[in-house]
Amino acid sequence: MASGNIRIGVLGAAGRMGQALAAAIAATPGATLSGGVERADHPTIGTAFGDGVIGGDLAALAAASDVLVDFTAPVALAASLAAARAANCALLVGTTGLEPAEHAVIDAAAADIAVLQAANTSLGVNLLAALVEQAARALGPDWDVEIVEMHHRDKVDAPSGTALALGTAAARGRNIDLASHSERGRDGIGAPRAPGAIGFASLRGGSVVGDHMVVLAADGERIELGHRAETREIFARGAVKAALWLAGKPAGRYAMTDVLGL
Ligand code: NAD
Repeated sequence: MASGNIRIGVLGAAGRMGQALAAAIAATPGATLSGGVERADHPTIGTAFGDGVIGGDLAALAAASDVLVDFTAPVALAASLAAARAANCALLVGTTGLEPAEHAVIDAAAADIAVLQAANTSLGVNLLAALVEQAARALGPDWDVEIVEMHHRDKVDAPSGTALALGTAAARGRNIDLASHSERGRDGIGAPRAPGAIGFASLRGGSVVGDHMVVLAADGERIELGHRAETREIFARGAVKAALWLAGKPAGRYAMTDVLGL
């Protein structure tokens, strides 16, 4: 270990977030980049990444790291968790679009290692979630909650993980379950919103890093609570802060609220 630094390994090294993470780790005192891996068939294997090159050996990277940071795809998650478990290494899951089965795999791994799962690692969005929960609790069910998000044209999951996290925060404030109250992708006639629903709308286009707006609407007035991400650096900075916090923590499942004390 380099002079007491926490060794952070990056999964999805060639991706948008993988590249932002390498820069954020280099800029963070106390953090060292232990390497990066990609899918075994990825054309970037062997190309430069920090002081080294992008590799394909997940187990070797886990063995050389105190914490792995995974911003890849849901299909890759089980292997990431297995490698982290085998090496007794902590894991930060930043990948979005996770289904209940994938959350169950995270819970199982958290019996053995420290796992932090966060749909959004920025300070601003996590504060926004706390404000949304507070607003939903204070205003009650007469106020309709609608969540609008926009992301770049290549994003594959919708609604965004952050929009769902904001919906979960609103549902928590209301003391209801999001799954049985969410309305997504409205289209056509004869489909007014159900009382108490939490609605989602997703826009895709251009290079937008991530915009979220939570609208609380009542008869005659409306509150809009929003966040605009201007650069992926905010997610990368937050992820590195969370990785440093997570390294060496006891086994368990953690969230950004634990890191930020929100
Ligand atoms: P991207 O497509 O640019 O990068 C993903 C990378 O992961 C690709 O290079 C891909 O080859 C690689 N990959 C896929 N499967 C892999 C595997 N099995 N092993 C190793 N590498 C693998 O996507 P992105 O914009 O960087 O986003 C990645 C994920 O992170 C998405 O789910 C996105 O929604 C999420 N995200 C989360 C946050 C947050 O704050 N939590 C912020 C931004 C993006």
